[in-house]
Amino acid sequence: MKDKDIHNNILKSSCKIANDICLPDTEWPRVVIIGGGFAGLALVEKLKHKAIQVVLFDKNNFHQFQPLLYQVATSALEPDSIVFPFRKQISGYKNVLFRLAEVQEIQPSSNTIMTNKGSVSYDYLILATGTATNFFGMDTVAENGLGMKDIRDSLNIRHMMLQNLEQAAITCDDEERDALTNFVIVGGGPAGVEMAGALAEFCKYILPKDYPEYPSSIMNIYLIEANKELLSTMSDKASINTLKYLKNLNVKVLFNEVVSDYDSTIVSTKSGKTILAKNLIWTAGVKGQFPKGIDKKYVVKGNRIKTDPFLKVEGHKNIFAIGDIAALISEKTPKGHPQVAQTAIQQGKYLGNSILNIIQDKPIKPFKYKDKGALATVGKRKAVADLGKLEFVGYFAWLLWSIVHLMSISGFRNRLMVGFNWAVSYFTYEKSNRLIIRNFNKKEISKSTTNSQTTVKNSSH
Ligand SMILES: Cc1cc2nc3c(=O)[nH]c(=O)nc-3n(C[C@H](O)[C@H](O)[C@H](O)COP(=O)(O)OP(=O)(O)OC[C@H]3O[C@@H](n4cnc5c(N)ncnc54)[C@H](O)[C@@H]3O)c2cc1C
Repeated sequence: MKDKDIHNNILKSSCKIANDICLPDTEWPRVVIIGGGFAGLALVEKLKHKAIQVVLFDKNNFHQFQPLLYQVATSALEPDSIVFPFRKQISGYKNVLFRLAEVQEIQPSSNTIMTNKGSVSYDYLILATGTATNFFGMDTVAENGLGMKDIRDSLNIRHMMLQNLEQAAITCDDEERDALTNFVIVGGGPAGVEMAGALAEFCKYILPKDYPEYPSSIMNIYLIEANKELLSTMSDKASINTLKYLKNLNVKVLFNEVVSDYDSTIVSTKSGKTILAKNLIWTAGVKGQFPKGIDKKYVVKGNRIKTDPFLKVEGHKNIFAIGDIAALISEKTPKGHPQVAQTAIQQGKYLGNSILNIIQDKPIKPFKYKDKGALATVGKRKAVADLGKLEFVGYFAWLLWSIVHLMSISGFRNRLMVGFNWAVSYFTYEKSNRLIIRNFNKKEISKSTTNSQTTVKNSSH
């Protein structure tokens, strides 16, 4: 397809119904993608420059690199180094359009989606909406703690932490000071472990410089895990070494403890343990988020959408699900594929090829996942890596972790910024400026999250 043809096709007329989101009319099939995460963007890349009108919807105007959220939370990176605007990503892709809107409902009978800005019809619909934090119904923890699922969460954690450290310098009450400088991280998976390591390094290298009035022992970091080991999806070697690294950084790791309540000052566990802390970061679970309109019978554990081996949503002819939201249940994958970036990217690429074949009436093959291994870092120069049969830990695992993450970030400028920040920090242990730009107020945040989560709550019907 020549550039000129693509241009002519895209520019032909536009919206017909007043309520519709304005889109150029097209003779080509229209593929609507909801969500520009790893899965949605990998799909866009496969469909660019093809005779298909691709419309990407996202409630944000940027893609987020979730694996580095914890570095923004601990002031190691600035937020704009790990987010990338969709319009910049698709610039030059003449058959791809972006619309900033939250999709609220799917109406499969009329091949239409309803958004908060209007409706759009589709020939093929792709759900790539990812997950939201799952507090497992514990309202007090959701109200008083903070999840770490997007860039806003990271900035909230950063502000909470810096404000509480400042308040600790003001108060004369010893108990209040302890509460303000104690941190509880819930969940011993990669996100919890990486957050605990980064916080511990903040305490070791930044606290003495920024807050000379405190001894570094003032900051207590607790990592609470419900099972008997950390990184339970990785090898024993990875799990044991991660624990060793965290202990060396003075992180207090509690196993077999399940958080049951948090009143903004006291964290309680099911076994009756209590910890005084005004900082609780929840990384212990996620649940699928997607718009209304998918029948409950196709929704499985974790609020994920059940697909067939071709990633088609069961019960639908032209609706597909990819990434964290998709559950392809088979003998080999009884719980679906792992909810990681590699799955999302591979599914996005696979579906791109499938759609091109479907449109040309060519046969398609079932999705096959290639496990490329797992990596996690615990502070600077220490990481664990499981690459098939190859398991290694320490400096080389950390080097590999750094290279893989750096190369995966969208945008050359972002990669440069992150690389520069890491290089400075490698030699100086310095992090980015620790500014409190806005007042952090958990109660206000809880109110706005409750409102915006209406779609999530309704999503399984
Ligand atoms: C803190 C953290 C650390 C992680 N670390 C790693 C790691 O080290 N390695 C790894 O492989 N994986 C990691 N993951 C997991 C990885 O980020 C996810 O598996 C991956 O992001 C899933 O991609 P996705 O495209 O399915 O969803 P997402 O990347 O979550 O994207 C979903 C997109 O959909 C949009 N959206 C949702 N609902 C709507 C709607 N109704 N309307 C419009 N837009 C909508 C969202 O705005 C978002 O842009 C981590 C996750 C977290 C939270």
